[in-house]
Amino acid sequence: MSPWRIGTADTVCTTRRRASAPRLSFSGAATISAMMQGFYKEIVLDHYQRPRNRGELENADIEEHLNNPLCGDEVTVYAKLRDGKVANIRFTGRGCSISQASASMLTERLSGKDREEAEAEIEAFLEMMRTEEKEELGDLAALKGIIQTPNRVRCATLAWDAFSKGFGNYYHG
Ligand code: ZN
Repeated sequence: MSPWRIGTADTVCTTRRRASAPRLSFSGAATISAMMQGFYKEIVLDHYQRPRNRGELENADIEEHLNNPLCGDEVTVYAKLRDGKVANIRFTGRGCSISQASASMLTERLSGKDREEAEAEIEAFLEMMRTEEKEELGDLAALKGIIQTPNRVRCATLAWDAFSKGFGNYYHG
């Protein structure tokens, strides 16, 4: 299986979307929703194509691997903690754009956070994935926004569940 296997979100043609944007009407909620979809897909594709903090981390305090058999996604998250804060955080993996973009966003989101802040971020994200998109979560809302079917939720939560598991093991053994 190719790591560049096409998932639902990968089929977006951003060139075509941009080309058609000036003709969009602002008259209906459906149009606004379509525009948000395009915006969200662009955010997710950006993280997928230019992942932040991708790579292994040697001697990490946290190293946790999870896979998602439903979609074939794999993610390993690594972190070093210093003075109670996430000093360095990275990930490796392969799979659909949602799973890899979500891991990239996680590393940006949790970098520099202390235990309480990191746990709050994780809970807020998982809560959103269980319920509805929350714009105050910034880029993370894009992950919720583009998911059309419940079985893709696991793609988005994979990295977060992995980090949460590793984090819990670090503190509780
Ligand atoms: Zn997936």
